[in-house]
Amino acid sequence: MSFDLRRTDGLRGDSVAVHSGRQDLRDLGVHALPIDLSTTNPLPDIERGGDSYESMALGGHPLADGGHVYARLWNPTVARFESALAELEHAEAAVAFASGMAAVTATILARCAGTTRRPHVVAVRPLYGGTDHLLASGLLGVDIAGIVAQADGVPVQVDNTFATPVLQNPLTLGATMSLHSATKYLGGHGDVVGGVVACDEETAAALRRVRAVTGGLLHPLGAYLLHRGLQTLPVRMRAQQATAQQVADWLAAHPAVERVHYPGVDPDPRALLGRQLRGPGAMVSFTLYDGFRAAEALTSGVRLFTHAVSLGGVDSLVQHPAALTHRPVEPTARPSAGLVRLSIGLEDVADLIADLDRGLAAVPAERLELAATPG
Ligand SMILES: *Cc1c(COP(=O)(O)O)cnc(C)c1O
Repeated sequence: MSFDLRRTDGLRGDSVAVHSGRQDLRDLGVHALPIDLSTTNPLPDIERGGDSYESMALGGHPLADGGHVYARLWNPTVARFESALAELEHAEAAVAFASGMAAVTATILARCAGTTRRPHVVAVRPLYGGTDHLLASGLLGVDIAGIVAQADGVPVQVDNTFATPVLQNPLTLGATMSLHSATKYLGGHGDVVGGVVACDEETAAALRRVRAVTGGLLHPLGAYLLHRGLQTLPVRMRAQQATAQQVADWLAAHPAVERVHYPGVDPDPRALLGRQLRGPGAMVSFTLYDGFRAAEALTSGVRLFTHAVSLGGVDSLVQHPAALTHRPVEPTARPSAGLVRLSIGLEDVADLIADLDRGLAAVPAERLELAATPG
């Protein structure tokens, strides 16, 4: 699988991931990304500083001769990460936030605040637990292009956190916004919290206005780490995905496992492979026959997998969504008690499978036999 992106200058996806957002570094005489930690900036004079301020407060860019004025309005380290991510997402622009949830909140505020009509958001489950908590209504089982067709001009937002720009570009399928919890795959090392929305320039201006007044800023050190993470994103995704497919195949043959939910083995999402998704990704969930007890035995029996929420890093994680990430979701939409979620990292697949084998060995044996008996 090669990363499906070809820049106008002919550069291919993997190369764009390494070089995007860095075009001005050579002129600056530096090789690594500079980190600008200024919270305020010297003003050239009142008029030009004021004009630049107004441009940014309205959601635009700083004026070339007016300066950045204040860090809540603009930061060059953050802006570089935004332009790199926009390229990877085939988008005109991107706006980064302090977290994925700050990004989700801004997209909703930007659309709904100040309208006299009652705001109406339609969301498709399953959603990230926090987002589900934030919203109210649901609708099931439609793909991106299908939703865009049904939406009939209403802006469509896709949470692209699990797929990443390497596997799926919602904007090319007609979506208005592609949102990421950058905390996950974009950062890739579990050491930075951030969010980013790729979109057209008009939407970006609305999001920057919300960001400027609500203050959900991405810190420049976070932008530095996220921008660096983009360089290895395609390679990480390919390696983690290849391992995830093997783990999913192994789980599908295990007698304690009722069903594996992974686009590489599950016939439902599999239909989107090739059409919408360029690969099945590296998130694998599965249901254990013995429910909560089995999930508890597994999460406490593994050693190489860390029992922890979050995902998308170089190390593998295991968690129980019903008790943790999806706890705030209303009971009818909550995952089942036997569902366990894996985020597959960069470890050797044989070690990961051995670890799961050890974890599943702790699942009560009589249930294994029961589960293996039809009926
Ligand atoms: C983690 C996550 C979020 C929220 O992002 P934070 O960075 O934790 O605020 C939103 N959507 C998805 C799919 C996520 O995994």
